[in-house]
Amino acid sequence: MTGVLPIAATAKQMGKRGLVVPSANLAEAMVVEGLAVYGFDHLRGVIEFLHDPSRYVAPSYQRSEADTATSPLDLMEVKGQSHARRALEVAAAGGHNLIFVGPPGSGKTLLARRIPSILPPMTFEEALETTRIYSVAGLLQGRGLITDRPFRSPHHSASGPSLVGGGSFPKPGEISLASNGILFLDELTEFKRDVLDFLRQPLEDGFVTVTRTRQSVVFPAKFMLVASTNPCPCGYFGDAIQPCTCSPRQREQYWARLSGPLMDRIDLQVMVNRLKPEEITSQEQGEPSAIVRARVARARKIQQERFAQEPNVRCNAQMESRHLRQFCQLDERSKSLLEGAIRRLGLSARASDRVLKVSRTIADLAESDKIQANHVAEAIQYRTFDRMSS
Ligand SMILES: [Zn+2]
Repeated sequence: MTGVLPIAATAKQMGKRGLVVPSANLAEAMVVEGLAVYGFDHLRGVIEFLHDPSRYVAPSYQRSEADTATSPLDLMEVKGQSHARRALEVAAAGGHNLIFVGPPGSGKTLLARRIPSILPPMTFEEALETTRIYSVAGLLQGRGLITDRPFRSPHHSASGPSLVGGGSFPKPGEISLASNGILFLDELTEFKRDVLDFLRQPLEDGFVTVTRTRQSVVFPAKFMLVASTNPCPCGYFGDAIQPCTCSPRQREQYWARLSGPLMDRIDLQVMVNRLKPEEITSQEQGEPSAIVRARVARARKIQQERFAQEPNVRCNAQMESRHLRQFCQLDERSKSLLEGAIRRLGLSARASDRVLKVSRTIADLAESDKIQANHVAEAIQYRTFDRMSS
């Protein structure tokens, strides 16, 4: 049965003391505290229960400690790529959208799949929100509270409805299932452009409205977008070893597919190069995920305190204009740096706001109260592709 968790939460709100559910949904209903939940396999059991409820004891839910089980993929296994690793850390620290652009074999997918290993555990509120979405989608499969941040990686043949939600009884799509976690779009340019256009509004709002003839439903969609793509059709533009065989026109058309408005909403745009031969043979391991995650957690803690009074903002990436005025003030030097970048790269107002948010996160990682010029300069570096896609 789908949607048992929201039903249980509503029963609690209505002041009900208990709830009878199918056994298979017991774990998820028990997530709601202060509600006695009984699970049965057959109606006969329910009838016996109703005859003499005092003979039954509702099982109690043991909330486990925040799940710190590490993801099986560790950043330690990634050699070199200090620039891309840094971008990954900044993205995780502030909840920013990120795209890796690089030739085949540069390890961009390898890097992206390791993001879950450096993200902080979900708060209880986040876990509850995510569990509700999976409950409605019928994907809990007997589980109780989901404590791992979701990592969703839909195939590029995915349809609009499967990505954003739909159906005659609206169901949440991939962007909602990725809420409080990651939506990973591998080979972004392979996705249909009209399907990508569906992402724009949810990326801005943090929710999606699915409208059908019967009803319209709002689902949360607070996901971090992580994407990867080749730099051109042949894949080797900018590669040190293999020359690109595409014409300028082909490259232009390729970037046009990504559409400026979508790139506008990607805070961190990072070129990933193939390793040099001496880097490939090097025995040196990368920094382990646990150490990176500790730095990310410190930066998130600062944000938690900053947004303690803001129920809808959990990290820097979710700031609105009024927060930018309050928390992202720049001194003269930083201001002229940003203005220079707006002119040089032709940044839109939206893109320049995103530079400010990323600067805030870089300052938080440095545990600096004020945003400094070097923080802004680093944030600007991550706007490599605004030019190419506009
Ligand atoms: Zn090429």
